[in-house]
Amino acid sequence: MRSIGILIEGKDGTVSRNSLGAVSAARGEDHRLFALVPDGAAASYAGALSAHGVHNVVDMRFEDEAPAAFDPVRQAEAVALAVGHFDLDALVGVTSAVGKEVLPRVAAQLDAPLVMDCVEIHLADNTARKPLYSGKTVGLVQLTGSTPLFGLRPNVYHPSLAPEETRTVSFAVPPGTDARLRVRKILEPRQEAVDLAEADIIVSGGRGMRGPENYRILEQCAQALGACVGASRVAVDSGWVPHTMQVGQTGSTVNPRLYIACGISGAVQHLAGMKTAGLIVAINQDPEAPMVKNADYAIIGDLFEIIPLLTRELLRSG
Ligand SMILES: Cc1cc2nc3c(=O)[nH]c(=O)nc-3n(C[C@H](O)[C@H](O)[C@H](O)COP(=O)(O)OP(=O)(O)OC[C@H]3O[C@@H](n4cnc5c(N)ncnc54)[C@H](O)[C@@H]3O)c2cc1C
Repeated sequence: MRSIGILIEGKDGTVSRNSLGAVSAARGEDHRLFALVPDGAAASYAGALSAHGVHNVVDMRFEDEAPAAFDPVRQAEAVALAVGHFDLDALVGVTSAVGKEVLPRVAAQLDAPLVMDCVEIHLADNTARKPLYSGKTVGLVQLTGSTPLFGLRPNVYHPSLAPEETRTVSFAVPPGTDARLRVRKILEPRQEAVDLAEADIIVSGGRGMRGPENYRILEQCAQALGACVGASRVAVDSGWVPHTMQVGQTGSTVNPRLYIACGISGAVQHLAGMKTAGLIVAINQDPEAPMVKNADYAIIGDLFEIIPLLTRELLRSG
């Protein structure tokens, strides 16, 4: 019997879809699953975790005064302690904003091997497949050494039900001694934060949008599609949209069913974050743009004509 830990993320009392996907990916006939919940919401998550096959929900209780549950350094310390305490054989998480902060720190503390951005994992032989060279190829990686860590690319593994009898275990995390990083205050985002990693459909805009005011037409299109709005780094660096909307190497890695790139050229750093999307549609004036070459469908023309037309058509057809 192998014990597999899963680093759980969630929001407003609901487990993230990607964490439930990670639980589903970690299941195996001889696996006992430990869901590590560092954000204090174990009681709210327990039902969903149980329905997806978790045997033990580990309610991590920080004894710090500061809100340690939101401190990646403390989270990593706590997860590393839990790996030892529950004698876990492997740890699975998501290559999300939180996962990128926490998983490498856990690996460093445990001196354990880590592979991020996996599109396939096999816990039986500790192998994983992951895109390499900005998505130009896919590599097969074998992790050797104790307690391998796997960060899954978002939206690759979908949640599937497999109800289990689950118990919740409280795990006390002693106060940290290293004060190099401390969370003092948590500021709520000014606007509703978008979780691109969870999105099924993304409509993204780049330099071709020409300014922040024009994102309105993308939002209208996204609303008609039930999609999230993303952006290229140029749009973020120009101050048109917040960094939470950036897709790519230095933004979010996304894996939606449909990705519509509007006025985005398709630089390798952008492609690295979205190339595995199920269906890519490029809207671009330049038929030679790399995004057009990487797309399943391309609409060559002016996005200011095409997007409103598309939105109107979507609304008309319901
Ligand atoms: C270390 C590093 C990390 C990076 N990380 C990222 C990252 O995470 N994400 C990211 O996106 N970039 C990243 N970049 C930047 C990247 O190299 C590109 O500069 C950037 O992606 C280009 O953004 P863009 O496609 O919006 O702009 P451009 O490359 O300028 O492309 C604009 C496109 O819009 C089209 N267009 C213009 N007007 C219209 C119109 N009216 N209708 C239709 N099409 C139109 C043009 O034909 C063109 O193809 C990174 C760069 C570095 C060096």
